[in-house]
Amino acid sequence: TNILNSSSVSKVRVVLRVRPFLPREISDVQPCVSVINGHHDRDASEVAIHLKDPLSCRRECYQLDALFHGRDDDEENVRQIFDREVNPLIQAIFNGFNATVLAFGATGSGKTFTMQGTDELPGLMPLAMSTILSTCEKTASRAEISYYEVYLDRCWDLVEVKANEVAIWEDKDGQVHLKGLSSIPVNSMPEFHEAYSCGVQRRKVAHTGLNDVSSRSHGVLVISVLSEGGVTGKINLIDLAGNEDNRRTGNEGLRLQESAKINQSLFALSNVVYALNNNLPRVPYRESKLTRILQDSLGGTSRALMVACLNPGEYQESLRTVSLAARSRHI
Ligand code: ADP
Ligand code: MG
Repeated sequence: TNILNSSSVSKVRVVLRVRPFLPREISDVQPCVSVINGHHDRDASEVAIHLKDPLSCRRECYQLDALFHGRDDDEENVRQIFDREVNPLIQAIFNGFNATVLAFGATGSGKTFTMQGTDELPGLMPLAMSTILSTCEKTASRAEISYYEVYLDRCWDLVEVKANEVAIWEDKDGQVHLKGLSSIPVNSMPEFHEAYSCGVQRRKVAHTGLNDVSSRSHGVLVISVLSEGGVTGKINLIDLAGNEDNRRTGNEGLRLQESAKINQSLFALSNVVYALNNNLPRVPYRESKLTRILQDSLGGTSRALMVACLNPGEYQESLRTVSLAARSRHI
């Protein structure tokens, strides 16, 4: 049992990552995101972000825990997020805690780039994996991964050859289990890349056969650390489904159903984080499958980080993302 007072419960940090304009965007897109004070002070406990509608000149301002602005030296940039925000969570999982890192934002805002990265610029997932592997070596522990996606409130295992559905099952103590979720041992980065990239390929055709729904599902990589006595701790690294405004995209049918579920789960997530950050007596985990699944890794003694991703040329989308982020954080 956890004996905790509210002061020992860590807050969920909510940080912002603004990607740079892409080469094809530079000529014709107006920037709408700027940072007040012009820069992010290394030691600042929070930053203010300014969104400016290029059409109406309307301005909105939000406070967040930290800002990571995409620049040309981008490897440096992901490294910074990793070193300052994720590495402490990894140390915590070796001390018996669970942790969660979530990237959210509209499609094209840089979630996958941040979490997965590219061959040249590894994202938070491979950076976490390699730090975990080297810490495992020092502590005589070993690591296992699971990878699954949550689509329309159903869970699909992406580690096994065939994407099996995983049942979300709650025991009599209210603990949520993913029944039959597979996990595989990982001893090296090549092993990780092999397993992860197979999972990513599967995700493109999982359960639909043809349609790639990967941008409309939540992708969850779980890295668990095991020692002699069993699981020590785990970290969930999540590339959330795109936060789209279906009034703008004119979604219908299945698309509408998907985006309704996505919005519902992101809203539920922000309610949970808000409740945790503001010490509310009741944390509404039950409002969505996503938050139920994350219940053992969000709140309590767990450590968590939300990375809000922004496309600097998209005002409406950025506004949605930042207001969800600021709303989750605030106090
Ligand atoms: P999302 O997963 O949110 O839909 P992506 O991660 O696929 O978005 O990013 C969209 C595009 O922007 C991709 O072409 C990606 O390579 C590029 N991109 C995203 N973030 C950065 C960054 N920080 N630096 C350079 N390019 C980026
Ligand atoms: Mg993506």
